[in-house]
Amino acid sequence: MTSATHNTNILIIGAGLAGLSAANDLQRSGYKVLVVDKGRGLGGRLAGRRIGNATFDHGAQFMTTRHSRFVEEVNRWVDAGVAEQWYASVPGQPNSHIRYRGAPTMTAIAKNMAEGMDILRAARVTHVAQSDKIWIATLDNGATISADAMLITSPVPQTIKLLATGNIQLPKDKCDRLNHIVYESCIAVMAVLDSPSKIPPPGALMLAGGPIAWIGDNQQKGVSSIPAVTIHSSGEFSAKNFENDHQTVAQKLLALAQPLIGAKVIEHQIHGWRYSKPLVMDEHRYMLASEGTGLPPLAFAGDAFAGPRVEGAVLSGWAAAEALVNCRFKGID
Ligand SMILES: Cc1cc2nc3c(=O)[nH]c(=O)nc-3n(C[C@H](O)[C@H](O)[C@H](O)COP(=O)(O)OP(=O)(O)OC[C@H]3O[C@@H](n4cnc5c(N)ncnc54)[C@H](O)[C@@H]3O)c2cc1C
Repeated sequence: MTSATHNTNILIIGAGLAGLSAANDLQRSGYKVLVVDKGRGLGGRLAGRRIGNATFDHGAQFMTTRHSRFVEEVNRWVDAGVAEQWYASVPGQPNSHIRYRGAPTMTAIAKNMAEGMDILRAARVTHVAQSDKIWIATLDNGATISADAMLITSPVPQTIKLLATGNIQLPKDKCDRLNHIVYESCIAVMAVLDSPSKIPPPGALMLAGGPIAWIGDNQQKGVSSIPAVTIHSSGEFSAKNFENDHQTVAQKLLALAQPLIGAKVIEHQIHGWRYSKPLVMDEHRYMLASEGTGLPPLAFAGDAFAGPRVEGAVLSGWAAAEALVNCRFKGID
């Protein structure tokens, strides 16, 4: 035992889908797991927000399933009542992939996954360092966590910055892999409407080639009890406008969306996703960064490793958990 505020076998940074899926597997394997997230809510980019009586999914909008274990997992969420089928195709966009939504919102899935888990919220890790054979992480409230192993699931550019705080050196090939990863950003506008939108059922507009990539009708989706839409900019528009005044940018997107929405916007908020989805990904499902080094077990996971979607994040979390279990470090007696 150390004099740290918290002692654990495995510290997981990030309560997004990668972190939570890894935490579930590691806890099932008998390890003591502590998850920390800088956000007040759970789910990372599975995010929700309220404006008055309106409710929004303003990050990921739906999930698709490909891998058999993920199909089983989504079925489990459906059985638990935290996910349901939303749609399989919309007019003009035939696509056999069923889109699943969280129920009532996308964050319900994260809350379900987090049941029975030790999680510190609103706890930003500001410093990570190796101390002999363990990891020591420091939080923004001054608390410290000692851990035998560490899994970091933040977007990779944030992970790189975190490693630098404790001067953690990785082999060149691993640094090259991390530096190769590129994300696109996205500007999300959440708008409360004075009447239902004119977006046709099922309330999902996917648009190509312009500044707007997506408009989701949260009322038709069953997320919001009153008319409310989420507008996502395209990556290209966001790259040009991310650093500009967000209110001006929101007005631009709202003006472009107006003919599609029909109804009048009575209130709106904006959220910038700097690391929305990975455009250039790693070729492996996770990275065991400590492999071949003298570092205590250290792994990275997230959608940048296994695919730019909810499923990728979950698959990556599971793969990283398996790699950590195979490290056979102390923890299970
Ligand atoms: C606008 C948008 C729309 C999307 N639409 C879809 C979609 O429709 N379908 C789909 O499948 N996918 C979609 N995605 C992608 C999907 O949301 C992601 O692939 C997935 O949620 C990533 O999960 P993750 O666990 O890898 O990362 P995250 O969800 O980003 O989790 C990382 C967590 O780490 C935490 N963190 C970071 N740094 C620290 C720190 N220093 N200390 C403590 N905590 C920290 C963060 O707060 C965050 O909660 C969308 C994403 C966005 C942004």
